Amino acid sequence: VPVVAVVGRPNVGKSTLVNRIIGRRQAVVEDTPGVTRDRVPYDAQWAGRQFVVVDTGGWEPDAKDRAAAIAAQAEIAVATADVVVFVVDATVGSTDVDEAAVRMLRRSAKPVLLVANKTDNAALEIEATSLWSLGLGEPYPVSALHGRGSGDLLDRILEALPDPPPITEPGERGPRRVALVGRPNVGKSSLLNRLAREERAVVDSVAGTTVDPVDSLVEIGGQTWQLVDTAGLRKRVSQASGTEYYASLRTAGAIEAAEVAVVLLDASEPISEQDQRIITMVAEAGRAMVIAFNKWDLMDPDRRYYLDREIDRELRRVPWAIRLNLSAKTGRAVDKLAPALRTALRSWEQRIPTGQLNQWLTALVQATPHPVRGGRAPRVLFATQAGVSPPRFVLFTTGPLDAGYQRFVERKLREEFGFEGSPVEVSVRPRK
Ligand code: GDP
Repeated sequence: VPVVAVVGRPNVGKSTLVNRIIGRRQAVVEDTPGVTRDRVPYDAQWAGRQFVVVDTGGWEPDAKDRAAAIAAQAEIAVATADVVVFVVDATVGSTDVDEAAVRMLRRSAKPVLLVANKTDNAALEIEATSLWSLGLGEPYPVSALHGRGSGDLLDRILEALPDPPPITEPGERGPRRVALVGRPNVGKSSLLNRLAREERAVVDSVAGTTVDPVDSLVEIGGQTWQLVDTAGLRKRVSQASGTEYYASLRTAGAIEAAEVAVVLLDASEPISEQDQRIITMVAEAGRAMVIAFNKWDLMDPDRRYYLDREIDRELRRVPWAIRLNLSAKTGRAVDKLAPALRTALRSWEQRIPTGQLNQWLTALVQATPHPVRGGRAPRVLFATQAGVSPPRFVLFTTGPLDAGYQRFVERKLREEFGFEGSPVEVSVRPRK
């Protein structure tokens, strides 16, 4: 999601403008010189485009003078935003402080839109033209308070945003795609047969969808699923057709084609290197994952406690995967598969509203700031969710984070928002 930063001196009307952009009609909190307001991102939308507006707030409390403070603020905006909206008070004209910020903004390659705010009437529009002297191009006369000119400004903002990614969403979604993977003999064919028998239906076609001939449509838990590349499982050729290399290629292809993978393990044997490789493949492909321990009927109940500990250790890199203990032979817990797949997919597509995300993040980094390294501690400024399937987050920071601190934020993110069954990617965009 592209980021638009709103920068300017205190009292030029930044928060009023932000309220106007996000379409909120609340009492407006104006900047008060000397008071720090957090940099708060808000979700905004105009003409069908989504973006995030960051209100860069007021003063840096430790800044010695106004010019330095606004330059620092502008610097952060430039580093983190795709487009900068620089706000000047048209009734005052440009000041030394404005000019200091402009020098900084012009050094960057980011598009900057100059807003002459408080242009409440046509007479003031003439005043606004004097702001050409700042060298940021045409000033856009706007009255954030009354709404004058704000539609034009939003159009300009959209034009300046990077091109949106192509829309790949199909009009109507077919069945969800599931890969059933695992090393030979863990019971993949048996599970497929069990599912087909339990549900009394291996559906062969669904109206309006094209299904690859190697796939199977199976009804599980009242929902039709597309099991990718099951031809081998049904005709029992997967083992006959030879090399481990070929099998692993086929597994990788199935994972790639799927949205969620069921990794089948043999509960009566230790987790092998080959099992681990398949689990890693799913995680690295960014797919949702259910790990199913098959042949649970062979489990000795006395081994349970010991085994749980061992499994936790073996699966410590994918603690988020949903685990099921089932038996293709007896049918035990096979009915748990569909709910597990639904949970994993829900997590995989979960979107956290920007406001909620940052409320949580602000509290987290206040309670546990980054440790001081060489006299400095990078600050986490804010975060946005850059995408789904799987969920991807970007942390905007004042510098690179320790790997340990980044993992801490990731872990807390999961604790707060769940994401059961789905990988989550967190990346850091430090200010340069
Ligand atoms: P695939 O290679 O993963 O497709 O594995 P198969 O489905 O061919 O199963 C391998 C062997 O494990 C066969 O002998 C199955 O009968 C047996 N098997 C599969 N599932 C279970 C189970 O839940 N319990 C037990 N006891 N045996 C199973």
